Amino acid sequence: MARYNAEASKNENKGWISMNQIEKLLAIGACTLWASSAAVHAAAGDDGIARFRATYKELVETNTSLSVGDCTLAAQRMAAHLKQAGYPDEDVRIFVPDGHPKEGGLIAVLHGTDPKLKAILMLAHVDVVEAKREDWTRDPFTLIEEDGYFYGRGTSDMKAQAAIWVDNMVRFREEGFKPKRSIKLALTCGEETNSALNGAGWLAEHERAAIDAQFALTEGVDGDLDAQGHRIALEILAAEKISQNFVFEVTNAGGHSSRPVPDNAIYHLVRAVDRVSQYEFPVQLNDANRAYFTGMAKIVGGEKGAAMTAVLANPSDGAAVAILDKNVDWHAMLRTTCVATMLSAGHATNALPQRASANINCRIFPGVPREEVLTQLSKIAADPAVKVSIPEVRGPIAPPAPLTPQILKPIETVAHQLWPGVPVVPALEPGASDAQFLNPAGIPTYGVTGIFTDPDGGHIHGLNERVRVQSVYEGRTFLYRLVKMYANQ
Ligand SMILES: [Zn+2]
Repeated sequence: MARYNAEASKNENKGWISMNQIEKLLAIGACTLWASSAAVHAAAGDDGIARFRATYKELVETNTSLSVGDCTLAAQRMAAHLKQAGYPDEDVRIFVPDGHPKEGGLIAVLHGTDPKLKAILMLAHVDVVEAKREDWTRDPFTLIEEDGYFYGRGTSDMKAQAAIWVDNMVRFREEGFKPKRSIKLALTCGEETNSALNGAGWLAEHERAAIDAQFALTEGVDGDLDAQGHRIALEILAAEKISQNFVFEVTNAGGHSSRPVPDNAIYHLVRAVDRVSQYEFPVQLNDANRAYFTGMAKIVGGEKGAAMTAVLANPSDGAAVAILDKNVDWHAMLRTTCVATMLSAGHATNALPQRASANINCRIFPGVPREEVLTQLSKIAADPAVKVSIPEVRGPIAPPAPLTPQILKPIETVAHQLWPGVPVVPALEPGASDAQFLNPAGIPTYGVTGIFTDPDGGHIHGLNERVRVQSVYEGRTFLYRLVKMYANQ
């Protein structure tokens, strides 16, 4: 998620941020030492941390993986907190798509005082990536706090933010907060599994009025910490790439393996796939990666910072591009990427293959049509025996939501209150979020968490997923203030 991170852990002597530079940054207040966060938190006058932690724990401990989990149960448990806080039944609804009893979700609303203003929507998916107990060091479905971290599946992606949204609703209600705009909450299922029914997409199709909003806030990108735990930048999602699968397929009459011929389906396929591995899509710049590299060039400095500035001035500067391409995040932010992810071929060990196919997963740069990538992949395959096709599409592609001052200013204001001097940097996310469903539905969707993550990214989707305890608590303060500010503007 946070792309500064990939190299930060090994950057000490490589022209990233040296201790010397960190001292300079500290001197000008550009990063706040981690140890001061408790003080920041206390100064915020927060209460209800223990109750929030219990909600978060309950959510993490409700298994919501597609195989054996139950999002509907998680939604019901969160709904109970809203009811307890005093929300009437008609303002808290559980929805369950037909034929998907365990993939339901929750929609709720705190009504605003000005009916002319549109609502803002707090969106979170509550489903998680699969996690096997035997693979993990600790039980993935028990919230474990250890050495300043919360461990567990979903602790980072994205049950912390989901629990913060629920906690916000509870606090607003209890305080008697009367926002000008309505504040809506949607908890959904099916974000993590491409083949699953997507709850945000389902709401856009079936409950469009219930989730109607001026804009929505969800996950996307986090704040970046360096290896020493210093805050580098608070990233916000300005645009994200589209994930699209393509299939390379070769069919052949086959035959007996004792009589091989050069026209072999597997050989055709592997040569074409190999050509994909050799190909780089051209560098593209848009508002999102321009803003990111402009902001990061100043923070990173040195050879890499200079390379960012050079690429912004001239995207064809091969030497500068080569420097940035060494970082997997930056490489992905600069262009469309395609990579082979699955292979299937042959039907018997002693037969010439009749069929061979490969899945090529592309992450398409914002605004580029799928058909353009399809055409390019056919050229790269460069073999009429290899048929290139699109197996399925996941809805229309919409342009990214514009980062207007109305969106940016409150983020900068609250970030400045909590973390003075830490820059807010828009980013282009190589992954994808539920924004891909709401943007085409006419609800501009922004990724902002206020949760700062380590250089290792918190092992999202992987083993032993974790997030710093203090990061979650600070994210809670950040999102509480931010939503209040948006709701009254
Ligand atoms: Zn997520």
